[in-house]
Amino acid sequence: MRADPAIRLSGVHKRYEVGTSAVHALRGVDLEVASGEYVSVMGPSGSGKSTLLEILGCLSRPSAGRYWLDGVAVDSVDADGLARLRGEAIGFVFQAFNLLPRLTLAENVALPLLYRGVPRAARHERALAALERVSLAQRAAHRPGEVSGGERQRAAIARALVNRPKLLLADEPTGNLDSAHGREILALLEGIHADGATVLIVTHDASIGARTPRRIAIRDGAIEADHGAAA
Ligand code: ADP
Repeated sequence: MRADPAIRLSGVHKRYEVGTSAVHALRGVDLEVASGEYVSVMGPSGSGKSTLLEILGCLSRPSAGRYWLDGVAVDSVDADGLARLRGEAIGFVFQAFNLLPRLTLAENVALPLLYRGVPRAARHERALAALERVSLAQRAAHRPGEVSGGERQRAAIARALVNRPKLLLADEPTGNLDSAHGREILALLEGIHADGATVLIVTHDASIGARTPRRIAIRDGAIEADHGAAA
């Protein structure tokens, strides 16, 4: 029997109601991503990339259509279950890092474990291991303001990895970085993919798309092209 795909979307639409008008951000997206694929989703601003990522990350629900995450029909899961699923199965990396400025890098990385009720000592140990994975263990006690942008994004990746998610979703992960730091982040994401995670990056940067085995182009809320899908 074949394993469930990591991601399956069928006929997904997303409409935003704004006052009396509606924005149709996704218009019937069908997509399958196999476990362990490394995928970029590219498209111009306003094409629906972030909306798609929010649905894949269970941060928002489709207006119509269905989503299965690792074989689980997301529409059958209630809000608490969805929060749990998100915490356990998905890691997020954002353009703006989204680290809490008053916490140390180790404390930031440990936050997803705190939400899951992992005891303090184990939290610290796993946060350090995750920081080690991104070569930042020596910065564990620093605060985000005391490290470079590239280091902040590495810490954010460590936070995304701390629960050992099967799916890593990244939204313009190099958008706030210079090209050297951007390459460092991409190398890290490639390593995470090589370790077996499914990695999906949303970007408008063609140089990122050129590095992923599978490249999806989205335009006006629909998939326009899809190259290099796993057989
Ligand atoms: P991208 O990430 O490719 O720039 P988005 O998914 O952010 O595209 O946006 C797709 C469309 O949906 C755009 O027209 C955008 O203005 C609209 N949109 C996105 N989020 C919202 C929202 N929360 N409320 C209303 N419209 C939205």
